[in-house]
Amino acid sequence: MRTSDVLSRIDEGDLIGLTRDLVRIPSVVRAGQPDATEAAVAAHVERWMREQGFHVEVHEVAPGRPNVFGAIGDTSSGPTLLLEGHTDVVTEGDASLWSRPPFGGELVDGRIYGRGSADMKSGLAAAMAAVAAIKRSGVSLGGRLVVGALVDEEGDMIGAKHLCTTPLGRALTAAIICEPEQNELCLEQRGVVWARVTVRGRMAHGAMPEAGVNPITALGALLREAPALERRLRKLCKRSPYLRPPTVTPTVVLAPVQGVPQSNVIPSMAQATLDVRLTPGPDAETIGKEIDLACQRAMEACPGATVEWHAVNGYRMATRVEREEPLVKAMMKGVRQATGRAPTFGGVPGSTDGTILRTTLGIPIVTCGPGHRLIPHQVDEYVEVSELVDAARIYVASALNFLEA
Ligand SMILES: [Zn+2]
Repeated sequence: MRTSDVLSRIDEGDLIGLTRDLVRIPSVVRAGQPDATEAAVAAHVERWMREQGFHVEVHEVAPGRPNVFGAIGDTSSGPTLLLEGHTDVVTEGDASLWSRPPFGGELVDGRIYGRGSADMKSGLAAAMAAVAAIKRSGVSLGGRLVVGALVDEEGDMIGAKHLCTTPLGRALTAAIICEPEQNELCLEQRGVVWARVTVRGRMAHGAMPEAGVNPITALGALLREAPALERRLRKLCKRSPYLRPPTVTPTVVLAPVQGVPQSNVIPSMAQATLDVRLTPGPDAETIGKEIDLACQRAMEACPGATVEWHAVNGYRMATRVEREEPLVKAMMKGVRQATGRAPTFGGVPGSTDGTILRTTLGIPIVTCGPGHRLIPHQVDEYVEVSELVDAARIYVASALNFLEA
């Protein structure tokens, strides 16, 4: 069977309808509200997959927070390709700032609007529709094709971490991460380390600073060290044509860390978080040593203070795959077959579930999905229907190439 025959099995009306349905089911995870999870949208995904006759697995990652997987093809031999999406979305913020209802899923002038329309219910819907089209076509696959709807990508990525511990996760050969990257083939993703730096001094009266050790002095020194740390990281990391160079950005500063701030009290503790973004190259240990050095210098600037740091959420290193990877080749050919255009390469400005899969399982990942790269998390988020349809076509052609029987 020709690829074009399978492509013709994509039902664009169903794909648009599915995307709008997913957007209309809110899945903002709100702390302290047990009902505000991915549960409802995950249940919809599961029901849809069962209707299509996929082999469905549901993994309860946390209460009310299931990962849902639908598979077709040969489970006994051959590679396993995952089309990966997440079901959670970030908050809509102040709904009055939206010109269309954030969970309306409105279709206007070739665009679907709403929170998650780009990031990434459209990518997930395109992946689901792609697997359905392949299944309907009856074409045989030389392996297994799985579409996964994971929880908590916008949080601690517990869905992706959980997947890596399961038999299905360990069986994966490669993954396409369906995040909004305007259907570019992103072979690189920036990494992130949130360095939470804690400075301990000694509490004293503000009028008698010599009686204490002011942790704010050390914290100030640390913030002055940030540009030097950034320069060192830029030297260590490889230059990438697709990614901005490493950055070190202070994002949170606290003093005192606990208790009531008082104008005449030197606090005992201060804290800052550095949002450290990385490009591929050095390993985690090397990055850690550079952050250690910044802390060491801050400590030297304030005798008596101790400066320690830890990585909130661990190290999520930058990822890269080479163009020679079979997955990349399958997708380069797939883009041409699906769109008639040459593939465009790009890079992901942040980390994704793919970061976890790449660094934990070691499998190649390519990030490619519908939606403008800059639109996620904004008001009036939307996806172009033409990009949505292109994405489904790219997934079909790429999967057929990768899993050629
Ligand atoms: Zn996303």
